[in-house]
Parts: sequence; structure tokens; C-alpha cells
Amino acid sequence: MDKVERIIKAPAKINLTLDVLHKRQDGYHEVEMIMTTVDLADRIHLTLKDDNKIFIEVDKGFVPSNDQNLAYQAAKLLKDRFKVQTGVHIFIEKNIPVSAGLAGGSTDAAATLRGLNDLWNLNLSLDALAELGAEIGSDVPFCVYGGTAIARGRGEKLEHLSSPPSCWVVLVKPPLGVSTKDIYEKLTLSEMKHPDTGKVVQAIFNRDFHTICNGLANVMEEVTFHLYPQVRHLKERIWSFGADGVLMSGSGPTVYALVQNQSRAERIYNGLKGFVDQVHVVRILGSRHKV
Ligand code: ATP
Repeated sequence: MDKVERIIKAPAKINLTLDVLHKRQDGYHEVEMIMTTVDLADRIHLTLKDDNKIFIEVDKGFVPSNDQNLAYQAAKLLKDRFKVQTGVHIFIEKNIPVSAGLAGGSTDAAATLRGLNDLWNLNLSLDALAELGAEIGSDVPFCVYGGTAIARGRGEKLEHLSSPPSCWVVLVKPPLGVSTKDIYEKLTLSEMKHPDTGKVVQAIFNRDFHTICNGLANVMEEVTFHLYPQVRHLKERIWSFGADGVLMSGSGPTVYALVQNQSRAERIYNGLKGFVDQVHVVRILGSRHKV
């Protein structure tokens, strides 16, 4: 077989809001959250193989390179569902911090779905890929489309939004991993202060950067801060460098700053670089993926 390959970008997401409404009968939590993609991305290299098997490799040792990897699960799902007889070698260049609240695994799965849809000539729409993605994980449908959206249900029901006004995003990942499952288990639904999601949606529509910054809110922050006080201190420290808005993404521990002014983004970066290893200055990615 001639070498047929693709390299697909798999961008991280941040939460502008994250609300948990109630626990459902099926055990999942009903969420409402605004997510947007940023240009910190893994790169998924897909190469077809004629032995009919899926093989996965990752350039970082702490990510599973077996059937536990969500990109592997995405390939297997497509292969089984559409009875594909060609194998694939998946190589993941991992740039997104792991267990960080940035949906790194979900975006790798989504990029693998998009890439293999093309390489295996399946001609599925993004809607069809998103529906398949929901079988792998709740954040996978959002990552299939990218852009900006409100996610409801367990995260799989999407309403697409226009992109927020362009700004700098400084992502700061302290050296610890947080299990999303742990944080859900420790949430006390009765004591929560809920975000005003509608206000942030309207501010995105109006391209009103300062109202977006004032509306940033995540009900998981208090739980993660309680378990890991250093994440709260990190948030306070980022504020002190002059960010326009600061929030923890997902269940953490990544905290990000939104900043309109480039020199202020640089000041935050320089102020934190010696203090935390993983600091990235990126942009919000405006557009949704094409098929
Ligand atoms: P979320 O925000 O969706 O909760 P996260 O960003 O907090 O996710 P991930 O980086 O997706 O967390 O990793 C969560 C777990 O998934 C890790 O324990 C990791 O071992 C596993 N995992 C499976 N596949 C991948 C992948 N391709 N990249 C990173 N982690 C993966």
C-alpha cells in the first residue's frame, strides 16, 4: 500500500462558564457550559496500514498508548461500525497538558474521527461524527466541531455561538492532575453559586469583552480549590498581574487569564514562568472545523 497519511490538529478547549444543574437518574450530571477552542493543540498523525489493525503511539509516557486512549477508541468505533478493512497507525504529539481541564483526550478522539472519516472515505457529516463521539465521551461532540458553543445535557447537546472577541489567553497548568470524577463526587449542589450563562451568551453575541470577563464562572472551582489550595493561590496571583478575567477551566487545575492587551499577556507569562512550568500564551480559535 502507498503511504497514505494525514496530520490533524486537535485543539484544547476552555470553559467560559461551567454550571452543574442537577444529578440525573442515569447517574450523569446535567450541565450547562460555554466552551471555546484555543490554539494550543495536539497533532494526530494518521497513517494507513494494510494489516487491518489499529496501533497507537504517544510521545509522552504518561498518556496510555493502548485501548484506553480515547483516540484509539475513536478509531475502533469507526472501524467496527463501518466494517473498515484497513488498519491505521496513530501517533499523538501531545502538547495539551493531561488531566488539566482542557479536554485533551476528547479532542484527540474528535480529531481522529475527523481524520479517519477522510482517510477511510466514510463521507460522514460533522453531525454524524459528533453523534458517534458522544459514545466515547461527553466532551467529544464539542471537540468534533470546535469553535464556541453552549453544551447541555451531559455535555453532548450543543448550541453553536459566534466567536468571542479576539484576545490573548494565558493558560497556566500547576504540576498536579485532577480527576473530573472526583470533583463531581464532591460537588454540593445545594450550596452552589450558579453562573449567569445567559448574560455571557449575550455578551458574546454583543462582542462585549468586559462583560464576558465579568461573567466567567465555574461551579467546580470551590471544590478544586478546597482540595488543592495552591490552585486558588494561583488564580489570585494571576489577577495580581493585571488580567481582565481569570477562571479555572473544567475541573482544573488549569487556570487561564483573558487579556486584550498583548504586553499585559506577556507580563502575566513572565510573572508566572519561573513559578509554574507549564504556561502557554495562545489565542481563541474563532472558526468551527470543516468536515
Ligand atoms: P476533561 O476536561 O474532558 O475532563 P481533562 O483535560 O481533565 O479532560 P484529559 O487530558 O482528557 O483530562 O485526560 C484524562 C484522562 O484520560 C487521563 O487519565 C488519561 O490517562 C486519559 N486519556 C485517554 N486518552 C487520552 C489522550 N489521547 N490524551 C490524554 N489523556 C488521555
